[in-house]
Amino acid sequence: AFILLIVLLFYFYQSKKNKEALEAAKSKFFSNITHEFRTPIALIQGPLEELCKKNQDPEILKKLETAQSGTNELIHLINQLLEISKIENQKIEINESYGDLIEFLKQIQNKHQDIAAQKDIKIEYEGLDQSLYCYFDADKIQKILDNLLSNAVKFSSNRSKITVLLERTDDIINLSITDEGPGIPEEAQSKIFDRFYRSENTSQKGTGLGLPLAKELSQILGGNLKLEKSNASGSKFSFTFPLE
Ligand code: ADP
Repeated sequence: AFILLIVLLFYFYQSKKNKEALEAAKSKFFSNITHEFRTPIALIQGPLEELCKKNQDPEILKKLETAQSGTNELIHLINQLLEISKIENQKIEINESYGDLIEFLKQIQNKHQDIAAQKDIKIEYEGLDQSLYCYFDADKIQKILDNLLSNAVKFSSNRSKITVLLERTDDIINLSITDEGPGIPEEAQSKIFDRFYRSENTSQKGTGLGLPLAKELSQILGGNLKLEKSNASGSKFSFTFPLE
């Protein structure tokens, strides 16, 4: 019985080690191949941009712009995959710098307002309005907000309103994004933070990686991201993180 126990323990130990090695190899392959995609895509992106600038023929320009939009989508997907692979390999570090958080948020909001204007959507800012100088990880906060705001714009109908609300309780910042879009079906609400999940009835483009990535980044910051509420009159996401 003792020998059998030793053999079994050895067997389990060995199979655990094999599984870990396989996971590591898979993760490395995934990260390497994603990196390899970047160079050829950059080689397509550069000349396309130049051709778009130089071309006057509207018919050719339309085709070039379609190619450009496809390339941009591919780059976005690759960047998301690289970010996930960094998280999986625990290669993501918190990188804080000192600045005005409110000013930074307004810059992000303005960038999205330009895109939202194409659908006649207004993004309004509410809450803390004075400067708030502190240390924060601009890159991660930007990625999280880019995802929430681009989803809000993407899923909302024309001429609606999106509200960005910033509140502070002691050293906790709560940022919420509320839209007047179609809402998320109840059965989908528990799945939207799963990788590659996309609601079945959407005609919008996407990868299903944005929300899971944003949630993981918010947790790396020591905070959280959740769907506060969603119904036929809209959705509200809230992102909370501690201030240094
Ligand atoms: P993507 O937007 O690329 O599909 P996400 O992970 O960002 O991926 O979102 C997952 C899914 O959650 C979306 O496909 C959509 O069904 C739903 N969703 C996210 N944000 C909203 C929103 N503001 N309004 C309605 N549905 C949303």
